[in-house]
Amino acid sequence: MNPRYLMLALLLVVGVAPLLLPPYYVTLLNYIGMYALVVLGLVLLTGVGGMTSFGQAAFVGLGAYTSAYLTTTEQLPAWLAWAGTSPWLTLLVGVVLTASVALILGALTLKLSGHYLPLGTIAWGLSLYYLFGTMESLGGHTGVGGLPSISLFGLKLDKGENIFYLIWVLLLVAIVITQNLLNSREGRAIRALKGGQVMAESMGVNTFRSKMVIFVISAVFAAISGWLYAHTQRFVNPTPFGLNMGIDYLFMALIGGVGSVWGALLGAGILTMLKQWLQDWLPHLLGNTGNYEIIVFGILIVVLMQRAPGGLWPLLTRLIPARFKVRAKAQNIDASATPLPRRQLPKHGELILEARHVTKRFGGLVANNDMSLEIRSGEILALIGPNGAGKSTMFNQLSGVDTPSSGDVLFMGQKINGLNSRQVARMGMSRTFQHVKLLGNMSVLENVAIGAHLRGKQGVLSAALHLDRREEAELLSEAKRQLERVGLGDYLYEEAGSLALGQQRILEIARALCADPCLLLLDEPAAGLRLKEKEALGILLSRLRSEGMAILLVEHDMDFVMGLVDRVVVMEFGQRIAQGLPEDVQKDPAVLEAYLGGVE
Ligand code: ADP
Ligand code: MG
Repeated sequence: MNPRYLMLALLLVVGVAPLLLPPYYVTLLNYIGMYALVVLGLVLLTGVGGMTSFGQAAFVGLGAYTSAYLTTTEQLPAWLAWAGTSPWLTLLVGVVLTASVALILGALTLKLSGHYLPLGTIAWGLSLYYLFGTMESLGGHTGVGGLPSISLFGLKLDKGENIFYLIWVLLLVAIVITQNLLNSREGRAIRALKGGQVMAESMGVNTFRSKMVIFVISAVFAAISGWLYAHTQRFVNPTPFGLNMGIDYLFMALIGGVGSVWGALLGAGILTMLKQWLQDWLPHLLGNTGNYEIIVFGILIVVLMQRAPGGLWPLLTRLIPARFKVRAKAQNIDASATPLPRRQLPKHGELILEARHVTKRFGGLVANNDMSLEIRSGEILALIGPNGAGKSTMFNQLSGVDTPSSGDVLFMGQKINGLNSRQVARMGMSRTFQHVKLLGNMSVLENVAIGAHLRGKQGVLSAALHLDRREEAELLSEAKRQLERVGLGDYLYEEAGSLALGQQRILEIARALCADPCLLLLDEPAAGLRLKEKEALGILLSRLRSEGMAILLVEHDMDFVMGLVDRVVVMEFGQRIAQGLPEDVQKDPAVLEAYLGGVE
């Protein structure tokens, strides 16, 4: 659905809600709004970025306690006295403090993988919680009272229906910012974190930085929510910032749909209402003696996770007619965008890549033994050999994924062993993968646009404020151009995962081309392609060669290789056993021997 209509409808509902609803529901909506702000950060962090955090409540606490401390302490240190004069200043301090803490915690925990990251978030969630409860100046477990209410343009927001508008406006702004961010160059990098990190790095994305960005944003959203909470309640104690609440926030995200911005609102709404109703109604049914609502609540959550593991929002969007969805996405491309500047390709015949005596050992196994090869501009070189010969290993040494045990790899005259794939990508090397690596639920166009990551500059801030429109148009129309070039122009808005395998391989070539490389590394590009597609691929590669591109391909399909390439390097048992023109190599006795009965 077009997000704009949804936003408009929501604005309308929000605008009239406090006028029509009894105060009890306004208060409930206030809580929903504050929770949703935290959950929005979780959607970004967990749903989009794939990092589970149990510790968001602690960031809420950090925002709340910062404001509570600064606005209620009688004698602030002189250098801080300015901050205590208005909640708006304490908001600023809270956000800066939280962002700093998040940067430190992120640096310590975001490199952890698997289960260690969630465990790490539990650890610091607990630490901050106990810090709030222990510090004398924060009122210990009794907390801090007497917070002032927030004033806006002279209006005191001391009643539920007053602060309601502030809460919801901040939430809606956060939703817009998040959506803008996700639909941008940085956003594509962020969306690649879940399941595409190797690919993203090889397209020049600094994935650690992307993780840090969403970690800090989600912490700041939580801190703002905490600030609102503190000045709505005008009292804080540690309880709402403990691990229990951290888990509740995660539940909200899961219920609503952790993969979508609107799921945050839905999840916060459903969980809050559900808890309230259960608390109100269950005592009537089951008596006042136990906490039945928690048990019933737990069962409901389990059932829901069973029935709708992706959350409720995706179920809702499935009800929307398809034509709305496509339209919303298709608006992105601006035909009049100026083409991106191109790299100066090296002169025809210039040496591009050189491997000198590269050896790679895995323990006792020598996967590459004293391999040397070179590729020149305007040339297609094929690396062939039977299974297990060491081709993929060689490929990894050449592309910066792996470092040789000994020997050197030189790209454009510069030694690149030891550099990572991101640095190599920046120098003009671009690759595809033997096992296709694309983001299945992103559009074909967006997948290819990731390839152009290094050709854009706009950062997080301009993306969030939607000031990146011109560059976005340029990047997307470049992606479109490359897709048309490889013959996928009809599939721009399809989900990449819905393409046939052969088309997915071609998509990867378009993505690699989007980086404007001078060297293209293709790992088995013809595998899974139909004859017609292979012919088209051959024509495309020939054309790229004539433009001065250097191409290295690892390939099994001999017919494809022999008709196309300029030179062949044959490997067996990690060693080079032959090299030369395709027709000579085909007759080489060592090669015929290696292929047991000869090359077909
Ligand atoms: P090819 O791509 O030609 O089929 P590979 O380069 O994948 O061959 O593998 C060459 C040899 O190196 C194989 O014997 C393989 O088992 C071994 N090998 C590859 N990668 C690793 C690794 N990461 N650790 C240990 N052995 C490996
Ligand atoms: Mg291989």
